[in-house]
Amino acid sequence: MAKFIFVTGGVVSSLGKGITAASLAKLLQSRGLSVTCLKCDPYINVDPGTMNPYQHGEVFVTEDGAETDLDLGHYERFLNVEMHHINNFTAGKIYETIIAKERRGEFLGTTVQVIPHITDEIKHRFRLVTKGMDVVIVEIGGTVGDIESLPFLEAARQMGMEAGRDNALFVHVTLVPYLKASEELKTKPTQHSVGKLREIGINPDIIVCRTELPLPGELRNKIALFCSVPREAVIEAPDAATIYEVPLIFHRQGLDEQVLMLLRLRATGRDFSEWMDVVHRITHPEREVTIALAGKYTELKDAYKSVHEALSHGGLAHKTRVQIRYLDVRSPDLEKTLEGVHGIVVPGGFGDRGIDGKIQVVRYAREHQVPFLGLCLGMQIAVIEFARNVLKLSGAHSTEFDSKTRYPVIDLLAEQKQVQELGATMRLGSYPCVLKKGSLAQKVYGTANISERHRHRYELNNKFRKLLEEAGLLVTGTYVSKNLPEVVELDGHPWFLAVQFHPEFKSRPQHPHPLFAGIVGAALERSRNPGERRNPIYAR
Ligand code: GLN
Repeated sequence: MAKFIFVTGGVVSSLGKGITAASLAKLLQSRGLSVTCLKCDPYINVDPGTMNPYQHGEVFVTEDGAETDLDLGHYERFLNVEMHHINNFTAGKIYETIIAKERRGEFLGTTVQVIPHITDEIKHRFRLVTKGMDVVIVEIGGTVGDIESLPFLEAARQMGMEAGRDNALFVHVTLVPYLKASEELKTKPTQHSVGKLREIGINPDIIVCRTELPLPGELRNKIALFCSVPREAVIEAPDAATIYEVPLIFHRQGLDEQVLMLLRLRATGRDFSEWMDVVHRITHPEREVTIALAGKYTELKDAYKSVHEALSHGGLAHKTRVQIRYLDVRSPDLEKTLEGVHGIVVPGGFGDRGIDGKIQVVRYAREHQVPFLGLCLGMQIAVIEFARNVLKLSGAHSTEFDSKTRYPVIDLLAEQKQVQELGATMRLGSYPCVLKKGSLAQKVYGTANISERHRHRYELNNKFRKLLEEAGLLVTGTYVSKNLPEVVELDGHPWFLAVQFHPEFKSRPQHPHPLFAGIVGAALERSRNPGERRNPIYAR
């Protein structure tokens, strides 16, 4: 049976519990163990698919088509393994399961309660991911003290009891704030949140302290004393130059050794070289390019977490730091904000806010020959822009934004028109795609057969395909069994690719995704040869 490590958070949210869990997992993986992660989210939504990315950050899509918490993206990127729908569940999902069982009469005669029914279901889901694993790291969302996370903490406590002392471990991530006025770091919030955890019956074994400044020795002692852990179990988590450095910071403080000792695990390896190489490449770039990201949610960077990471991985392939310029697509002076960028990405999205600005951005990329990558909605926008400005189909649109357009270049398939519910009813997860021989897409991927993750309802309308292709917007990737266009590229443009899927979910620091490595390469090319260029064919 796998051993469990539960990661809880105290004091405030956004402490980086996900990065802590992923980093600890990476450390143990580097010690030769098989490790996976599981994220529990205490909200009532059945999955984050219907939530606003402003509040919750990006929705991460797994190979098997689950819409999950963005922390699963960290797990995949750190561990270089695939997560599945069982690696994330919410309170809503647990209640949905229990209520459905109750309706089917599976609890006949009993009063259905949080303890034991809800907690049993949570424990059942903890166990689902243990197959073939030495260690499962369970990250419990929310902050200790919240009403919502109580059933999860109770389930973790029970699981700890059942597994026994050497088989479960509790890591508590807290904040040690710095008070400017008195110029000191404060441990009281940590003491209080550990107190709260103890009230529920959980004694943390390791305390990870998020801090802006180094923790002095006496503070470490104080936290150890008040929280009843050995001094070496107080781990400092300073703001790092890159999130990928966190596993190494933990390793230097002996975190992996302690976990191995506490769980009585024998390490079979000790290889951090690949990871050190990643960190070295991130922190020692030789060049720099600026890439504009033209999305709707640019105030909250978490909304485009995977795109952000994938762009920086793309940079690693060229020893290049990618400066991301988050554009406000509603800005009246959009063209001005694009000046000097070496590449443009239009990411995925829903809803019509900012669509006109995005169309303008694609037009700029097309006419000024700026390397361009369109992702999902970004691809649909590229088609709309081309239809309007090159084919002169005035008012061409996606029926998502204008259901009565004369030129529905992006439309729902008949099967999607029947769908009534919005949760988990899109084209989701991994689909194969065949790339056209000799296309830019095939050159960039280095193969003709690819498979990428999807999360969308609308598709390029095949009725317009011939018209688009004749004018130079070529369909170079297709989901063959349904004849759905998946990739378009612009003839005569140095680097213009737009895809109906989300390649960003599959990029890893050790294996930058070809499309992101590709656009950074093209952006570098442009940075070497700046100067105004206009595409003679399309700039009319
Ligand atoms: N809103 C578009 C659709 O549903 C694009 C979705 C996306 O970009 N993920 O098809």
